[in-house]
Amino acid sequence: MKFVSYILNGVKGYGVVKEGKNVVIPMEILLEELNEKTPPNLLGFICTYSDSLVPKLKEVLDNTFEGIPLENVKITAPIPYPRRNVFCLGKNYIEHAMEIKSLPTGESDVPKHPIYFSKIADPAIGHMDKIIIPKDYTMDIDYEVELAVIIGKDGKDIPPEKAEEYIFGYTIGNDITARDIQKKHIQWLKGKSLDSFTPMGPWIVHKSEIGFPVELEIVSKVNGEIRQKSNTKKLIFDIPYIISDLSKGLTLRAGDIIMTGTPEGVGMGYNPPRFLKPGDVVECHIEKIGTLVNIVE
Ligand code: MG
Repeated sequence: MKFVSYILNGVKGYGVVKEGKNVVIPMEILLEELNEKTPPNLLGFICTYSDSLVPKLKEVLDNTFEGIPLENVKITAPIPYPRRNVFCLGKNYIEHAMEIKSLPTGESDVPKHPIYFSKIADPAIGHMDKIIIPKDYTMDIDYEVELAVIIGKDGKDIPPEKAEEYIFGYTIGNDITARDIQKKHIQWLKGKSLDSFTPMGPWIVHKSEIGFPVELEIVSKVNGEIRQKSNTKKLIFDIPYIISDLSKGLTLRAGDIIMTGTPEGVGMGYNPPRFLKPGDVVECHIEKIGTLVNIVE
């Protein structure tokens, strides 16, 4: 199931996309059938949901036809305002770690432990939204397609073999980065947290449709040209490892978002670098999830 957040006639809503019909069924229609209360937004739904609800929801979805055409809604990020910063991993594909290492300014290598950092998404922007370059401040804007894991329930000290239980689903993230600012301040927080620098979506696909381990083709394109093409099976630290390691002594919360790192082919890896510029169209695609498109301004 694809869980989507949207705005219809100025009102925020969320629901499930009906496959093949290009319509979204509002969540209140589905949950009413199950005599369940509807949380105010998708984050609220994720915080109260349990895995046992999913087969029931699917059944109701199959028998519900009064949907809203997707073209009539403005899709937003699935979770526009995450409850806390997005957790991110740096250099989690070997080829990407190597492309950075080969740069004159690169001092990195293949990490022995996950490199964690965080990113402020206030808000995360959605499908077809604009990535806005603050042109007086930086023009070194780069794209990074990433598989984003959405945590489904609170957990601490989660063993790797139980990691999937703590996942709600997956979406696509684009870890937009101002490379000069990232480098200048040593810590990456600011260069990755400028306004509009966290595109996410178009929706969250429930884990039951993805399979485990997660092995999905991952691609980014700029103006139709493929820049990144890999597979999430190449993650250096895979999803069970990340969830287990990150949750050691640190409670993961339902609704938390973990961006798992980007493969090789970022703009910074080219000589000369190929940064984004106004008018560019960036497409991030992950198999079984969809395509997240954003326009640079
Ligand atoms: Mg990244």
